[in-house]
Amino acid sequence: MKLLEYQAKELFQKFGIPIAFGKTISSIDQIDDALKAMPSPKVVLKAQVYVGGRGKAGGIKLASTAAEAKEKAAKIFGMKIKDCPVNKLLITDQNDIDKELYLSFILDRDQQCYKMIFSPVGGVDIEELAEKQPEKMLIQSVDYFPGLQGFHLRAMYALLKDFPPAAVKEIGMIATNLFKVFVEKDASLAEINPLVLTPSGKVLALDAKVIIDDNALYRQKDLLEYRTYEEDEPQEREAKQKNLNYVKLDGTIGCMVNGAGLAMATMDVIKHFGGEPANFLDIGGGAKAQQVTEALEIILKDPNVKALFVNIFGGIVRCDMVAEGLITAKKTLGIKKPMVIRLVGTNDQKAYELLRAEGITAFATMAEAAKEVVKVAKAGQK
Ligand code: GDP
Ligand code: MG
Repeated sequence: MKLLEYQAKELFQKFGIPIAFGKTISSIDQIDDALKAMPSPKVVLKAQVYVGGRGKAGGIKLASTAAEAKEKAAKIFGMKIKDCPVNKLLITDQNDIDKELYLSFILDRDQQCYKMIFSPVGGVDIEELAEKQPEKMLIQSVDYFPGLQGFHLRAMYALLKDFPPAAVKEIGMIATNLFKVFVEKDASLAEINPLVLTPSGKVLALDAKVIIDDNALYRQKDLLEYRTYEEDEPQEREAKQKNLNYVKLDGTIGCMVNGAGLAMATMDVIKHFGGEPANFLDIGGGAKAQQVTEALEIILKDPNVKALFVNIFGGIVRCDMVAEGLITAKKTLGIKKPMVIRLVGTNDQKAYELLRAEGITAFATMAEAAKEVVKVAKAGQK
C-alpha cells in the first residue's frame, strides 16, 4: 500500500522527523480556511497522487499570495498527473532551499537485507544522478539485526563535510528515525526526496514517500485508514474489494483459476503454447457461483481480452457448481467472447453434461485446453 505524501508526513511527524507545516484539502472550496491556518501567505501547493515526478508534471506550484494560491490550486485540482486525477491537495509552508539531499531505506529482496541510500545532491533529478553519477550515491546494506549502526551514519557524514555541524547531527537523527518508520511500519520503501537544508540551517523533509508491505497490514491496523484503493488499477481495486486475487497483465487471454499454484501453472502453460495471459486471477479454493460471475465480470472489463480460459480443479469446489456458475454468468453478462473451459475433479462428468447442453465444450487436460484458447485468442486478434 502506497501512502500519499501527506499521510507519510503524518507518520514522519509521529517519529520525530521534521516537516514543513501543512494542511490538506479535498476540494477548492476548502482553500480559504486552509490558507488562513498557514503561518505565511508564501505556500507550496502539492497534488496528492500516488505517482512520482509531480514537480516535473506541474503538480507542485509555489505561490506568494492568497490570490495566486487559489488560482494555482484550482489548476492543480483540474489536472491529471500521469493519468491520475488530483483529489487531494497538500498546502505547505514555503521554505527557502539551500541544499537538497536524498535519503531512503528500501527492502532488497535479492540480497535479503535493507539498503540505505543517501546522496548529498537530491531533488527531482535523482534518477538521472543515479544513472550518470552513481559515485554521488552512497548505498549501504543494513541488517534487520542489529539495525542502523554508527558506521552507517559516519559514512553519510563523510559526504557532508561542507554542512554546518548542527545540520549534520540533525540529518543523522532523521536517518535514525526514518529507519524506525521503515522497520516499525513494515515498509518496503521510506524515502525523503528532497531532504533540505534551509539558509537558516533548518533541516526538513519536504517530500515523503512510504510504501507499506500489504502482507503486513494485518498488524498495521492504524494505517488502514489511509487505504483508498486509488493506487490500484480499477480492476484490481474491484477485485480486492471482492476478495479475489487479481493482477492485471498485458496479454489477450483472460484467466479464471482456482488456487494460486494452478493460476501460476495456467499462465505458464499459456505462454508455453505461444499465448499471453491478460491477468492472474485466483478465485480461491471454495469458489461459489457468485464469485465466478464477479470474476468473469472483472476479466471482461479489460478490452485486451480476446478469449477466456477457465481452469478449475474441483477439489473442495464441485465442478457441476462451477459449470452452473459459468452458464449463468455467460447468460447474465451476455458473454460473446470465446470461452475455453478445463474442468476436472469432483462431479466433472455432470459438469460436462451441463455445459454440453449449453453448447460449451470443456476439456479434461490443461494442455488441450491451453492450445485451444491460444488458437481462438489469436483468431480474435485478427
Ligand atoms: P515530486 O516532484 O513528486 O518529487 O515532489 P516534491 O515534493 O519532491 O517537490 C518537487 C520539487 O519542488 C522539490 O525538489 C523542490 O525543488 C520544490 N519544492 C517543494 N517544496 C518546496 C518549498 O517549500 N520551497 C521551494 N523553494 N521549493 C520547493
Ligand atoms: Mg520528491
